[in-house]
Amino acid sequence: MNLYIHVPFCAVKCGYCAFYSESGVSAGVVDAYLDKLESVIQPEAVDTVYIGGGTPTLLALPQLRRLISILEERLSFAPDAEISIEANPETLDEPKVALLREFFTRISLGVQSFDPELRRRIGRKCSEKALHRALQLIKEAQFPHWNCDLIYSLPDETLDEWRKDLYRAGESGCDHVSCYSLTPERAALLGETFLADDLRERIMYDEAGRILATCGIKRYEISNYAVPGGECRHNLNVWRGDLLRGYGPAAADFDGIDRHIQAENLTEWLNGAMPETDHITHEARLNEIFAVNLRTVAGWNAPLWEKVPRADSWSERVARVSVMQEKYSGCWLIDEAGVRLSAEGLLFWNDIAAELL
Ligand code: SF4
Repeated sequence: MNLYIHVPFCAVKCGYCAFYSESGVSAGVVDAYLDKLESVIQPEAVDTVYIGGGTPTLLALPQLRRLISILEERLSFAPDAEISIEANPETLDEPKVALLREFFTRISLGVQSFDPELRRRIGRKCSEKALHRALQLIKEAQFPHWNCDLIYSLPDETLDEWRKDLYRAGESGCDHVSCYSLTPERAALLGETFLADDLRERIMYDEAGRILATCGIKRYEISNYAVPGGECRHNLNVWRGDLLRGYGPAAADFDGIDRHIQAENLTEWLNGAMPETDHITHEARLNEIFAVNLRTVAGWNAPLWEKVPRADSWSERVARVSVMQEKYSGCWLIDEAGVRLSAEGLLFWNDIAAELL
């Protein structure tokens, strides 16, 4: 089983952020959240655990310790389990990093940009000092894996600024980088307006692939890059339709048939609101899983597809996408290794996915 826990707390809400979180909550509210988690987490064997948010590392040291104890008590971990946590630089200090290093095998640091002016422009309140300290602590702690989160295509961001961010990430010692572009809709939340510039975004995307590759960090999904072996196993499993258990407000579940989404409201979740169930046909769910994993460079092959719960015929899948080759010329790679999108095809993923659904 793959387990996701959503920690819905942030120091302040960043204007561009679409993830559910509450800011300015008291320690008592966090304790109530942990009480609830303790009462709902079921004993289970897990391959991956991902603690996301929100800002999980906003929890005080004793609260983080309690969260870890709850997980240790309830879960049995595979010997090579991947246990990840998201962190914001300004919430890390030496005791917290030491505690996290004892339990987590992977930490994902929300850098967003190494440039203080760009961070200021997107409302990330992280000082240079806090960022450098966090990077140093993570490096010294020697996590088996760590990710650096970056955001690009910001209003007025130059190509040169983006290149500098990429080199800084590539040379930071991390083995994974995530690069997401700021969409005009999210920028509008910041009070910024800019017209989508596909060419500029395309150039920035290409630069991400080129520069990170020079640091040994290769694209393995449209927005994710890793040194070989540094890929996020939790995400790969979920993209490939593996079972997912979610706890916490706004967390999603997939039981092999339906997707369930917990209430996107802390009070409702604390009060035991029933999750929403996404009832779609089995065929529609398989189409969705097939489309999502085409975001990865490796795409699908027969053994991988056959692991999807109640997968349909692989040869029919191949026949269906073969028909699409004519319309999306140069976008598909179909051979004995499987079915995947070319570098060009990944850029048309949205259109291709829409046709597959
Ligand atoms: S800290 Fe992260 S999760 Fe919280 S509001 Fe900002 S971007 Fe969103």
